Amino acid sequence: MFVYRLLFICLASVAVAIAADPTPAPRHTAHKTQATPEDPGVTFNSVHVDGPYIAMTFDDGPSETLTPKLLDLLAAHHIKATFFVIGENVAEHPEIVTRAAREGHEIGNHSWSHPNFGKMSDDSVRSQLQRTDDAIKSATGSRPTLMRPPYGSITPREKHWIHDEFGYRVILWDVDPLDWKRPGPPVVRNRILKETQPGSIVLSHDIHPGTIEAMPSTLDALEAKGFKFVTVSELIRMATPKPSHPSPQGGGNPPASATPSPSPSATPMQQPSTTP
Ligand SMILES: [Zn+2]
Repeated sequence: MFVYRLLFICLASVAVAIAADPTPAPRHTAHKTQATPEDPGVTFNSVHVDGPYIAMTFDDGPSETLTPKLLDLLAAHHIKATFFVIGENVAEHPEIVTRAAREGHEIGNHSWSHPNFGKMSDDSVRSQLQRTDDAIKSATGSRPTLMRPPYGSITPREKHWIHDEFGYRVILWDVDPLDWKRPGPPVVRNRILKETQPGSIVLSHDIHPGTIEAMPSTLDALEAKGFKFVTVSELIRMATPKPSHPSPQGGGNPPASATPSPSPSATPMQQPSTTP
């Protein structure tokens, strides 16, 4: 099955990256197709909103060169985004995270060194999250309230205790341009434009030059389509119950059938909890 093949490729790349490159330099990260959210209010792939609001999210930074460029672009557009940062990169460039927070962007926890939470002990996961939480607090003055597991890999049990201990919401995505494969800026842009709809959480990475190159025309085109940009927490605060849902629950239901996404997350409410 495609998802498992992709997961295997991800894990293989991580193994290769770890074996070949023990430095904390940004690595080529592959995100597994997202987990199935079984906890409305805790886990989000997207948010049901009344209005053309979307959240752009950028993972795996900060990058010394690319993140400042992206921050300049976002400032020029008056766009607020969400950055899911890697703790060891925050430790290396805390000033970039300080700037991002000062300019109104949201900072989320994306682990210390980008391991696969789904295959780790609770203590290791806890340490990955706590160290990053501390680094973000040190850089921005406040603790994050959002977490995105590397590769989208997290077990239902981990979600629960992480939410209980850290208070984090678990943020996945519904738009994935697969920019980590470096398909070129036009492809990244076109994939985002094709898949984004109101309430979308758009995944991309501020550690890939092609992603940053794609952003000026991507943001122009999204603006031309009428989309308005908010942080993930703002998007969640705008959540409205889905009228068609049999038991509407405030706090943002994941899309049940409205998202014609190529990923299995298009029907998360109908799937059992089979998260790896
Ligand atoms: Zn990542």
